[in-house]
Amino acid sequence: MPELPEVETTRRGIEPAVVGRRITGWQLRQPRLRWPVVLPDRLRGARVLRVLRRAKYLILETSRGALIIHLGMSGSLRAMRTRTPPGPHDHVDIEFDREWLLRLTDPRRFGSIHHTDADWRTHWLIADLGVEPLDPGFDGAFLHRAVRGRRVAIKNLLMDAKVVVGVGNIYANESLFLAGIRPRLAAGRVTRSRCELLANAVREVLARAIRAGGTTLRDFVDGAGRRGYFSESLNVYGREDLPCLQCGTRLKGVRVGQRATVYCPKCQR
Ligand SMILES: [Zn+2]
Repeated sequence: MPELPEVETTRRGIEPAVVGRRITGWQLRQPRLRWPVVLPDRLRGARVLRVLRRAKYLILETSRGALIIHLGMSGSLRAMRTRTPPGPHDHVDIEFDREWLLRLTDPRRFGSIHHTDADWRTHWLIADLGVEPLDPGFDGAFLHRAVRGRRVAIKNLLMDAKVVVGVGNIYANESLFLAGIRPRLAAGRVTRSRCELLANAVREVLARAIRAGGTTLRDFVDGAGRRGYFSESLNVYGREDLPCLQCGTRLKGVRVGQRATVYCPKCQR
């Protein structure tokens, strides 16, 4: 599934291709994605002002409202020339002047595109989202307030989008390893100083993944069609029963909230 780093990588990939361009039209080859895609006629002629990301949503701010795009379970969004022939899962093209288009490829069709004339931050998909992990508001103090009194496993809390957005399973596993915290530890038992370590670990893991150009997903391609390679630098995720890269202890695999979880019984307490 495209996670925050993949979406941010996509944002950076498409931004130079579409900012300042006018939308000239669109092709909805398959408008039935997670929700039906409905684009208003007045969007024709709208100029793209900015490309932003909020959680795993890409936001195209235009002179006539905003497009809110989600890549779903398997989607990718790429900028290309208009004459590129579509493949079987290329469900939506948004066309721009000077022969550019954005193409949404989405084999499983869990992606979505919404248009809103209101402030996109108030849209129902966006309004209740937690803080951005790479924003200054996400720090030890914030995390410590969020864990207070909570009995849920710290890993589940970290993956709760109402608390902090975009920390998917892989990044939660990796962050807890870096911070030396057991994934199943009750959130409320994580001390202030360990919250500090954990917030820093989350930021570091996500930042590193973004620098690596995405990714974790085997068939992920960024906005320009390049593949990511972050998966080569994972410490615990996908390494169950292999030796810990830090101490050599055999890594343990468990399920936490139904999600594959791997940790080092010695390095993580
Ligand atoms: Zn270890």
